[in-house]
Amino acid sequence: MQAVTLTNSKTLFSEAQHHIPGGVNSPVRAFQAVGGTPVFMKSAKGAYLFDEDSNKYIDLIGSWGPMILGHGNEEVTQAIIEAVKGSSSFGAPTRREVTIAELICEMVPSIEKVRMVNSGTEATMSAVRVARGYTGRDKFVKTIGCYHGHGDSFLIAAGSGAATMGMPNSPGVTKGTAKDTLLAPHNDLEAMQKLVDANPNEIAAIIIEPVAGNMGCVLPKEGYLEGLRKLCDKNGIVLIFDEVMTGFRLAKGGAQEIYGVTPDMTTLGKIIGGGMPVGAYGGKKEIMDCVSPLGKVYQAGTLSGNPVAMAAGITLLSILNNNSQIYQDLEQKGIKIAEGMRKAIKEQGLNYTVNQIGSMTNIFFTDKKVENFEDALTCDTALFGKYFHAMLNRGIYIAPAQFESWFLSNALSDADVIQIIEANEDALREIH
Ligand code: PLP
Repeated sequence: MQAVTLTNSKTLFSEAQHHIPGGVNSPVRAFQAVGGTPVFMKSAKGAYLFDEDSNKYIDLIGSWGPMILGHGNEEVTQAIIEAVKGSSSFGAPTRREVTIAELICEMVPSIEKVRMVNSGTEATMSAVRVARGYTGRDKFVKTIGCYHGHGDSFLIAAGSGAATMGMPNSPGVTKGTAKDTLLAPHNDLEAMQKLVDANPNEIAAIIIEPVAGNMGCVLPKEGYLEGLRKLCDKNGIVLIFDEVMTGFRLAKGGAQEIYGVTPDMTTLGKIIGGGMPVGAYGGKKEIMDCVSPLGKVYQAGTLSGNPVAMAAGITLLSILNNNSQIYQDLEQKGIKIAEGMRKAIKEQGLNYTVNQIGSMTNIFFTDKKVENFEDALTCDTALFGKYFHAMLNRGIYIAPAQFESWFLSNALSDADVIQIIEANEDALREIH
């Protein structure tokens, strides 16, 4: 076991707290849920992270999703350098924006037109606005525990960091805003049907994470996504798949390709920027044509379509598009790690749940099947905190929160996979 000393991280965290709220620029990074000092990273290569104290970790966060090929991919890095030499921003249309739009539409066939933005949050905010403009209705439905970024109307029963920090409903969101966000329990078609019936001709959109990474990796029940599709068709509701996490991660065409359900709109982020800040929303032509300047729904961005982000995204998406084997390899790594975790759990007489699909997985410290947020909330989060540190001390960097998915990268070697499985086995033994 490697002894992780965090002397420099401690100093930096202490300094950071003077001028940055909580010392971090995104809450879950503060390790509040698991305790201890957040690790300040200095560099990364492939599957590995190196911190300010020269500790090395196998990275299972992957910048919360984007680093699907690992850090410092040569082609992506070169594309970024080449782009920035041309200019770091034009604020005018560029060839790269045409290329990435073509690529996204090719890889995700339900997207006929796409608009680039700068984050997943912007993508979801904009998609809901467009759905409202298109339908002329005000309300939309999200399911409890899904996270769609930090736009006001989504910070209601939100998962991810919001749940981890104990604030699924954020102060600062007005009652006026909140009243138009309707909530349905996740993975419960009957409840969704009732909600839709109770609000006839009032719901513009249902937005959902088809695989809910922000509850810690929750798969859709059989028939759930298909049922949502039918419900939306019957009631003139725009079905939005939030594939900010799952897009280009689970398959070229995201979760919608795997489950064979076609949404009207899709939101994207993370992988499409190859590690640069980016987001996108797109969908059916007739819906997207509501967006300004063609239509009347306003949405804009100074840095939208930024050349450096586009170059990184085009390069990463092209690699994924031209190498289907990557997804098979990622799936194999996912299965191996999940099975390794399940084996250790069983051998130690424990009864925890491991969910996995492709390169997303998670161990839930509960003996319940985890199919929705209520199930996830039965987890022993204090025990998870101990597990997190036991893994960190063994050089494995997982999300510092129970309600987050692990993101595997294709840079993980067979030896790394074995190290992860062994670390899990030892960590479980240590904390019981
Ligand atoms: N939607 C989903 C499913 C996400 O997982 C996230 C972020 O994790 C977002 C939206 C928000 O994206 P961003 O953090 O880029 O604003």
